[in-house]
Amino acid sequence: MAKSKKNTWVLWSKDEVKLLRKLFPRGRTREIADQTGRPLTAVRQKAYNMGLKTKKYRPWSANEVKLLKKLYPTENTRSIADKLGRPLREVKVKAYQAGFRKKRRPAPWSIQEETLLKKLHPDNTVPEIASQIGRSASTVANKARKLGLRKVDPYRGWSKKELNLLKKLYRSRMAEEIAEQIGRTVYAVRLRVFKLGLKKRSRYEETHRVVGGVKEKRCSRCKRWKAGSEFHRVRTCRDGLAIWCKECVSKSQKQRLAARN
Ligand SMILES: [Zn+2]
Repeated sequence: MAKSKKNTWVLWSKDEVKLLRKLFPRGRTREIADQTGRPLTAVRQKAYNMGLKTKKYRPWSANEVKLLKKLYPTENTRSIADKLGRPLREVKVKAYQAGFRKKRRPAPWSIQEETLLKKLHPDNTVPEIASQIGRSASTVANKARKLGLRKVDPYRGWSKKELNLLKKLYRSRMAEEIAEQIGRTVYAVRLRVFKLGLKKRSRYEETHRVVGGVKEKRCSRCKRWKAGSEFHRVRTCRDGLAIWCKECVSKSQKQRLAARN
């Protein structure tokens, strides 16, 4: 404040005049005031004395609009205004009227996000990582490239111990649980199961076998293998047999009755 008051009575320096000549015609009076430390009125008065005028509105050329369209989404509007030699406001209005929009710049990556990306990158697809991190796939791909992350063979490096554990667990556990236990991603686990052909064995094959010409079924309650005749007939089932053996069914019925009384 003190400076601007003082400056009001100080002669304009060569540099200040140069600034005035450059910026005033572009309607950037406020900026001249800020840079010289002079009040707006003083700036306007000086410009008037010098015979400077704010440039009249000139229509936008096709090339200017083209440039604006190209630059507006990513470049600072002030710098575009400078390039075009137009007042900032005019540029903003034009962009608004033409429907140009600023590209929203994604927020900078946090350390946690970067760490997660590095962890997930080797054996997850980019869209999967993107959905886990909550960013767009293109942003994730760009970031990965910047970090120099390379896709590694997702089948790499499964130790025998891991494979054995996987083979042991895949039938009874969900991929999520196995992934947790082995310390790999769900995607990696599913991929490995598929690669090993473990999925090919269906639930039907797991519970049916033929021993010595006799068809056997494994009871899903007592887990024992029993001949087909040990199961009640259920027409809606694929094999025509109940899931539980007769013994288990009657046990269960007795237990229910006991519980009721
Ligand atoms: Zn049973």
